[in-house]
Amino acid sequence: MLKLKDRKRAIKGLAEELKGLMEGEETITIMHLCGTHEDTVTRYNLRSLLPENLKVVPGPGCPVCITPDTDLQRAFHLLEKENVILTTFGDMARVPFEGKSFFYYKSKGYDVRIVYSVFDALEIAKTTDKPVVFFAIGFETTMPSTAVAVLDGVENFYVLSAHRFFIPAMEHLLSFDDVRIDGFICPGHVSTIVGVKAYEHIKVPQVIAGFEPEDVLLALCMLVKAIKNGENCLLNEYTRAVRYEGNVKAQKVMNEVFDRDDWEWRGLGVVRNSGAPLKKRYEDFDALKVFEDAFKDFEPREDKKKRLCRCGDVLRGVATPLDCSLFMKACTPKNPIGACMVSFEGTCNIWARYWRG
Ligand code: SF4
Repeated sequence: MLKLKDRKRAIKGLAEELKGLMEGEETITIMHLCGTHEDTVTRYNLRSLLPENLKVVPGPGCPVCITPDTDLQRAFHLLEKENVILTTFGDMARVPFEGKSFFYYKSKGYDVRIVYSVFDALEIAKTTDKPVVFFAIGFETTMPSTAVAVLDGVENFYVLSAHRFFIPAMEHLLSFDDVRIDGFICPGHVSTIVGVKAYEHIKVPQVIAGFEPEDVLLALCMLVKAIKNGENCLLNEYTRAVRYEGNVKAQKVMNEVFDRDDWEWRGLGVVRNSGAPLKKRYEDFDALKVFEDAFKDFEPREDKKKRLCRCGDVLRGVATPLDCSLFMKACTPKNPIGACMVSFEGTCNIWARYWRG
């Protein structure tokens, strides 16, 4: 590990290199795809070190944020209809829909429990006869754990899957006319599971990067050089954690349990092959199948309270939190209106935490 003064020198050197590389160039827009990358960029104020013609925009890298209201309403619907213990992550429990959240339901006496991992939910199931439903969100980083929990096969444990495969969303982003992407900084955590090979078919310059400021700046240098040379590179800056094959065991267990389907993402619409329902052979653990009757009258609605919320645009990289009229006025981390203000990985929450306005 470099000493602080050496790190500062490295950051300064990379920022200067970027300025030199971008001199006289057209604007280049790089999208990163991970809440932790946005945290690094904002916490260390990296944008202030970049030349004006190099833009770094956050994409749909926060699992809580991209989970659409339909999935949330479905979980609320199940709570209202069935006498279940609903388990979910703390961030997810604060996402509002029509002013209600899992915490709201908890305060009204519904059995909602906050867990740190799917295995906590599994432990709860082992101590009760009541059905325990895990509202499962997240990308390939959390999917393998959910798959292992399903394979453990505790009788009263069910998964309401809102998991999504990440790579299809990257291809989908490239299909929008209003989204400019000259290159991707690929998500570090997801990459540890899917490996470098998962990105090979995506035809824009890409660099897989770690989460230190030096990692991000180095990834930007690598991308700018490739873009200037007209190369569709796929480079791995995060070699200390990401391998070409990824985590093969995790991939195997994930593919054993989860199927693929066309599912909606907040801000992106329906993304082909991105949804992760449980495979038919595991339907005994699938809350959608087991509580099928409860969902018969389920009809998703639009949340009118979110009319002005621009989460969708923020997730697509076409707006920043500052473009939202509610940012740090009606919408704050204490009183979030949209999901991007709830999660620690959400762009609005990150900008709010380091807000100096
Ligand atoms: Fe939505 Fe709040 Fe972000 Fe505006 S500031 S886009 S209301 S989450």
